[in-house]
Amino acid sequence: MNLERLRARAQSFTQDVARESYLAYSGLKPEAALQTIYERYADILSDDALSECIQRFRDAPHDSEDARAARMMLEWQVESRVGRQLAALDEREVALEHAGVIRVADGRVIPYQRVAIDIANSGDVTDRRAIDEARARTVEESFAPLRLERLQRERDAVESLGIAAGYNSTFEALSGISLTTLAAECETFLHDTEAMWNSVLDERLRAFGVPRGEATRADSLALFRLREFDDAFPETSMESIIRRNCAEMGLDANATGRITFDIGDRPGKRPRAFCSPVRIPDEVYLVLRPHGGQSDYGTFLHELGHALHFGNTRADYPFEYRWLGDNSVTESYAMLFDHRMQQRAWLQRYTGLDRNRAGAFLRLAGFEELHFVRRYCAKLLYEIQVYSGAVDWNALPDIYVEILAAATGFQYRPADAFIDLDSRFYSTRYLRAWQLQAVLDEGLVDRFDDDWWRNPAAGPWIVSELFAEGQRESASEVGLRASGARISFAPLTRKIESLLES
Ligand SMILES: [Zn+2]
Repeated sequence: MNLERLRARAQSFTQDVARESYLAYSGLKPEAALQTIYERYADILSDDALSECIQRFRDAPHDSEDARAARMMLEWQVESRVGRQLAALDEREVALEHAGVIRVADGRVIPYQRVAIDIANSGDVTDRRAIDEARARTVEESFAPLRLERLQRERDAVESLGIAAGYNSTFEALSGISLTTLAAECETFLHDTEAMWNSVLDERLRAFGVPRGEATRADSLALFRLREFDDAFPETSMESIIRRNCAEMGLDANATGRITFDIGDRPGKRPRAFCSPVRIPDEVYLVLRPHGGQSDYGTFLHELGHALHFGNTRADYPFEYRWLGDNSVTESYAMLFDHRMQQRAWLQRYTGLDRNRAGAFLRLAGFEELHFVRRYCAKLLYEIQVYSGAVDWNALPDIYVEILAAATGFQYRPADAFIDLDSRFYSTRYLRAWQLQAVLDEGLVDRFDDDWWRNPAAGPWIVSELFAEGQRESASEVGLRASGARISFAPLTRKIESLLES
């Protein structure tokens, strides 16, 4: 199969999967018919197609544009072949999510897709732990075994391709990301911020009324929901406020009709927001199920960063640069937007916070940021063990609980060991995105001043210099080109320290 035909078929396949996933995850369809899509595209997922992708990858001159595209295409080929073997399990999970309910000891029955929202909004510690207890039982009975089987089959399928020795080395070869280097950076970050974290966590938990040794992950959901600020972040004006912010930085929030907002409540909609590019750049969906208050604003901004990225990608770029590449890049654009919530002048301009409350909010934003980065550092360290094959599957839940609790100070449940995990080391993308957004933000400040987010020249620059490029470049390359800096945790640590002193 020649490259042009492969690209055309691969794009059509990716679009079909994206559309089906959007419909199922947004609650518009009660099931996802993924297997039939894989059957329709058997020709591009054949053994011959894989051999050709490997050959192209090995033949391309080092550091050439061909090598860049060939590696992306091989990574896509591997993901899609593995995806085909997992499609039946994914269909079962979607059906379970739609039909699933949890039964709380007091008799309440809550749809599985609403549980995270209800826990975050519960102001009563006994109540949210009761809901979480019921959730954990449902997870243990149905979701955890399914995910464990998925992980085992994913690891076997990747290793059977023989691209490198083991799952982790294959990921490194295909993504160009060194797990060893990033894990070492995570260890250092955890170590360097340990004292700062302990002191701020003690202070916050005291104010929240939960003793340090007893705080659970369910408590953390309610803690970071920050309901005390709800009046400053009204749900009814969220969309118009964010549209105004976009307009002031010279951007159209809908990319002249290419982006659709799907932000209302709907049974069956996943509680975790997502952006679904169904055709890049022409048809992009931003999907959000409201939780309430500031967390919706942050989530909307995050998904808007993705949507504007995909909706403004150059239409003349090949499939690989529009659809594939290093997702750390799109995650960093999403964070570039959601991190406006960490800026005093932004908060005072677009939300109901006055100067005094903005300071209190910023300290909490620093606390939340530190928690999230530490949690993701821990997740990566755990996932490296999951996929290494060096640890027995039965031993993993205890390791999960130990690593996550040590990094965050919250108690975790063994039942979540295979649920609280995005496959294919997606955590590496978030971690590098945190690094890149800090570097990009500093670059934007140099170019357009502290309030670049309301400078009408900034939006068009972001579109032409960042968004239009799709994901042709890696996160490290984007950082160097846009800001002349190597990505690392250093600027992020500085930012967190200054937030905590707000
Ligand atoms: Zn994201």
